[in-house]
Amino acid sequence: MAVCHDDPVHELGLLREVVAAVEREAARAVVEAQAGAVAGAGLGAGRGAVRVEAVGLRVGTLSGAVPLALTGAWPIAIAGTALQGARLDIEEVQATVWCPACAGEQPVDQFYALTCPTCGTPSGLLVRGREFEVAYADLDIPGASHGATKYVTPDRA
Ligand SMILES: [Zn+2]
Repeated sequence: MAVCHDDPVHELGLLREVVAAVEREAARAVVEAQAGAVAGAGLGAGRGAVRVEAVGLRVGTLSGAVPLALTGAWPIAIAGTALQGARLDIEEVQATVWCPACAGEQPVDQFYALTCPTCGTPSGLLVRGREFEVAYADLDIPGASHGATKYVTPDRA
């Protein structure tokens, strides 16, 4: 199946996976916050009430996901989930190849394919550019001692 860059359904599918992953992490963070505050008062109502303030995504220019389409699909992806109302921050990662002739990293776009844009040497060594991963999630956990928690996901897809 070819990747169609104009098909927002593609981005929506990617975002649904992101939403599911952040929901899992948020649930875990709530449990940890409550476990860490055994002596705290008034924590009983906290379960499941975590709010997600923002989600940061790292998106490579060769990932097949289009930031504009991601932004457009985001409200649909988070509707009715624990992420409802969360902001989406997208950090684009410029794709680069390692060029043996230049002995350096060179930026490429989808039109250069895997060829050095400076000297034209073909290179199969994509250094970066295929990233599609959650960089962080800003969680607001009721009852947690510090209020908002910046959570950085340890597992990267
Ligand atoms: Zn080169």
